Amino acid sequence: MNSMNWLRRLYPKTLIARVVVLLAMISVSFLGYNVARLGWSLFHWQAHIWAMSYWTDHHPDPEIPDDQKHLIFVMIDHYEHGKGEAAAQRNLEWCRKFRKISDRYRDDYDNCFRYTWFYPFDHHNDAIMEELSHMAYQGYGEIEMHWHLGAKSGISKENYAEKIQEAIAWYQQFGAMITVDTPPKTAFAYVAGNWDLDASRPGGKGHGLTNQIQVLKEQGCYADFTFSTIGTPTQPSKVNSIYYAEDDPNLPKSYDTGIDVVVGKPIKDKLLIFQGPISITWNGGLEYGAVENDPRFRPERIPKWIDANIHVHGRPEWVFVKIYSHGAQSKEVVLAHDMQWMLKCLKAECSRRDITLHFMTAREAYNVVKAAEEGITGDPEDYRDYTIGKYRNMVETVTLAPERIPAPGASVVAESSQLQHTRKVAHVTLPTVIEATVSRHHDPHLLRD
Ligand SMILES: [Zn+2]
Repeated sequence: MNSMNWLRRLYPKTLIARVVVLLAMISVSFLGYNVARLGWSLFHWQAHIWAMSYWTDHHPDPEIPDDQKHLIFVMIDHYEHGKGEAAAQRNLEWCRKFRKISDRYRDDYDNCFRYTWFYPFDHHNDAIMEELSHMAYQGYGEIEMHWHLGAKSGISKENYAEKIQEAIAWYQQFGAMITVDTPPKTAFAYVAGNWDLDASRPGGKGHGLTNQIQVLKEQGCYADFTFSTIGTPTQPSKVNSIYYAEDDPNLPKSYDTGIDVVVGKPIKDKLLIFQGPISITWNGGLEYGAVENDPRFRPERIPKWIDANIHVHGRPEWVFVKIYSHGAQSKEVVLAHDMQWMLKCLKAECSRRDITLHFMTAREAYNVVKAAEEGITGDPEDYRDYTIGKYRNMVETVTLAPERIPAPGASVVAESSQLQHTRKVAHVTLPTVIEATVSRHHDPHLLRD
């Protein structure tokens, strides 16, 4: 009874006091809920790996007004339709829908929205590659390497270089990963299957290739686009960065930290790690740069992507945003609605903040990074092909099925029966093809195929 008495004495006497106490209780619960959510989020997303870098590694560059900024927007895809004819049909449908979206949303230089398909070598579907090559020729994007190195792949540290060469040869049949430079160069970007780069899955769960970064670099890989992989042990401790990883061929996860790309300090012999944005809000909301079934796109995510402020140190006016998807598995979401919504909101946000928007592929963004590193200033639009030239399939048709008729005015002649090795391909000068590609994008009849 005594305890009830003191409680009763504490009970507020006036209405105002009661309201104040109620509001205080609501605030404390709200705060408690959000602090708990933040705690859960930090645990779930394995913050012990990355939080230190996230909160302490701030770029020393001064804040730049938005109207001086150029945003280089890159969307990459772990493009996994699978094997066989049904997969090829799904891909045709996917590409048909994508072309419509891409044609509709243009950057500040009237480039259509460009995609980068990281096509898995283990899926090995010739029909899909042929169609993607055709997409590249039409200016819709570029093909790069993805590969799930399972335990059954028979790949070891000793034979990995040889296996990568076999993979490159297969992609190059389709005009991918080989440049139009004279002499042609082998170049490719990489996304690690199962997020497993450089044997970063602990406890023998991954492929165990501790020399992977070194071999990739030696075989022509210009950059890795796997990260972020937040929430998995493969996530590097370094975040929101473009940096170089130095491989220790005997140790796993050599990309955990590295050397930032800095203006005036070019590095040639190390693999570039090109990261996407990460941000966490005080109440535990986490952003990690994916647009797919989960997480879905939301407009409020765009400022977080831009303000992650990923750039080459010393060139803060060129900001890079790399978003990833699994577009085959998420096609209902990505193609039916979210991709268009994302592009619409992105364009609106850039025009509201007066930021110049550029849609680029992985290769083009890399070239802009290298231009920044060499001290180039001005408009990044001019450096899309700065160090690595266009891939062959962007300027030549690789195969020519009956329905694939070149656009009027495109002086490209190509003939192929079945073997890509024996195809006859006429080389054309770049400006002609670029013009032809652009003019086709303006042709409404070709958009509704
Ligand atoms: Zn994958």
